[in-house]
Amino acid sequence: MPPAAKKPPAKTARTTPSTSASRLARLGLYSDMDLALHLPLRYEDETQIVSIHEAGLRSLQSVQVEGHITASDVQYRPRRQLVVTVADETGQVVLRFLNFYGSQATQLAVGVRIRARGELRQGFFGAEMVHPNYKVVLEGAPLPASLTPVYPAGEGLSQAFLRKAIVVALERLDWRDTLSDAVRNKYRLQSFESAVRTLHYPPPDADENALADRSHPAWIRMKFDELLAQQLSLKRAQAARRSRNACPLPTVGALSAALLKVLPFTLTAAQQRVVTEISRDLQASFPMQRLLQGDVGSGKTVVAAIAAAQAIDSGFQAVLMAPTEILADQHFRKIAAWMEPLGIEVAWLTGSLKKKQKTAALERIASGAARLIIGTHALIQDSVEFERLGLVLVDEQHRFGVGQRLALRNKGFGGGAPGSTPGSVPHQLMMSATPIPRTLAMTYYADLEISVIDELPPGRSPVLTRTVDQQRREEVIARVEAAAREGRQAYWVCPLIEESEALQLQTAVDSHAMLSAALPELRIGLVHGRLKQEEKQAVMTAFTAGEIDVLVATTVIEVGVDVPNASLMVIEHAERFGLSQLHQLRGRVGRGAAASICLLLYQGPLGGTARQRLMTMRATTDGFEIARRDLEIRGPGEFLGARQSGDAMLRFADLATDQWLVDQASELAQELLPHDTATVDAHLARWLAGREDFLKV
Ligand code: ADP
Ligand code: MG
Repeated sequence: MPPAAKKPPAKTARTTPSTSASRLARLGLYSDMDLALHLPLRYEDETQIVSIHEAGLRSLQSVQVEGHITASDVQYRPRRQLVVTVADETGQVVLRFLNFYGSQATQLAVGVRIRARGELRQGFFGAEMVHPNYKVVLEGAPLPASLTPVYPAGEGLSQAFLRKAIVVALERLDWRDTLSDAVRNKYRLQSFESAVRTLHYPPPDADENALADRSHPAWIRMKFDELLAQQLSLKRAQAARRSRNACPLPTVGALSAALLKVLPFTLTAAQQRVVTEISRDLQASFPMQRLLQGDVGSGKTVVAAIAAAQAIDSGFQAVLMAPTEILADQHFRKIAAWMEPLGIEVAWLTGSLKKKQKTAALERIASGAARLIIGTHALIQDSVEFERLGLVLVDEQHRFGVGQRLALRNKGFGGGAPGSTPGSVPHQLMMSATPIPRTLAMTYYADLEISVIDELPPGRSPVLTRTVDQQRREEVIARVEAAAREGRQAYWVCPLIEESEALQLQTAVDSHAMLSAALPELRIGLVHGRLKQEEKQAVMTAFTAGEIDVLVATTVIEVGVDVPNASLMVIEHAERFGLSQLHQLRGRVGRGAAASICLLLYQGPLGGTARQRLMTMRATTDGFEIARRDLEIRGPGEFLGARQSGDAMLRFADLATDQWLVDQASELAQELLPHDTATVDAHLARWLAGREDFLKV
């Protein structure tokens, strides 16, 4: 039962002044269920009284004592304070209040009985408590039967107010369990009601550690429910997608076969497997929504090209969108070199095209002359119209917002094109080298099918990673020179400066000047975001052709850039980069047969998380492992970035520790959805009422 001895009548909450309601609203608490799910941060134990003598033996513990006031004085030395002596049969304790109201001094008069809770210490004048919590009580007043909740509270919202509001809410709550007895038995879950009541008002003997680390069965039930709601709604979204129309792309024909022949390599087993998965999806008459995950360098581009070939063989266009011009350009060159000799027109569209070129490209795209279109987010502009778009490929999908991805998908023909069903959407393949750990994939991307390339092409040698203090720059420069002597190339990446692109640019220019002066025999290039597209392209082409030894770059080379002869990567101020960014950057080397090295220059002293990041980089080159640690260091919200996580943050479950619950919730969701709409609806109404929006992928 609630600890409050005097329960306010049920109507209290309804007559609550609107200011209180708006304060509750600021915490997102609108309904009784909201209040019921507003769970305590911790508890205070007011269920027991110990004798003053006993309290003296429990140093460093918070204890509650009860007794009569035998003396009460306002003293002025060494400073103004209220000093109250309380005695029981076993001894006496001095309560000291350094800040107090006049009314308190009056209230705490000799003869009054009080309960005081705090830490009892042996002071100069004997046992004392400084600023204890206290309340005036009558002899024999009952003790609360449960621990007292301490809630997360906003400004201007007192614990007393929240406690009362929650007591009232729980009295009115619809406690019906959304899970049947059979389900609760199967997953060993306690009832919803007992879980909620236990968490608000734990019995005095509750396992406090289990409450604190959320492993208590009552917590498990709450987390299970939360995850179940998430799985249900994600799976519903998935079912909705399956009921939409897409044009099947059934033909693995002449182009597909010819493409495989012109490739300068054979596919790895992992590539072969994902190609099969994608090919099967493309044949369906509902839209594919597949995420192709593969570590940097695992060879996702060619998989995308093969998927595009199937779309083209089936009489449709395919479009590939990349987040930067450098990357789009690289894809264009590589894929056009494979496809154009096979008679396929590949169009190129980015923001930096001249008006005339752009008009021409748009025209080729709209007429259907261009079968494959490659570009940047310029592709989602209104002026871009496709003849028959059947497949959307998004590279480095995490670099795009949800809106941008949807915009491209919505460019599917709205009907009218021969063979199209009105309202159908293109199939979609997204690629990412920032691997999403399985837990996140299941909880945030449950409406994505996932293909994983878990194997690197043969002949790669792992990248050796070293951390080097900035002060030893000279040695690093010597390293760069030695590599160049052996005919190998290097990247020199300049620090990320979040606040200012201009500053970042400046450091790149400075580093370029510094290296040019230190290594006059070497050809040193510079590429950054402010260069014109042709200039960027010219530098990248020269680097690819081996005409530049050292490429000084900003993070524009972060994603996708593929120059196999580059085998040395230097990253300045590595401590300023995030883990996934470091991993992406490092992925630019180790693409050829030569042993590659990545040197992470840092400026000490390092903060805790920066040190963790650099140690992780040194310890592993496995992108999935790095993503897992990144998730640990940053938590899912930051890991996904605001763009992607929407409001999907889980309140109770912790993906780092609760994977097993995700699995169970997912299993149950799968079971309930087709058979038990009533349960599904009731559960979603309880947990997600009005908050389903975040599920849009
Ligand atoms: P990412 O997955 O990072 O996008 P890319 O698609 O850029 O990787 O591929 C990296 C490099 O590996 C490219 O040079 C590509 O041509 C090459 N590659 C891809 N698949 C294979 C393979 N099966 N065998 C050999 N090299 C391959
Ligand atoms: Mg790539």
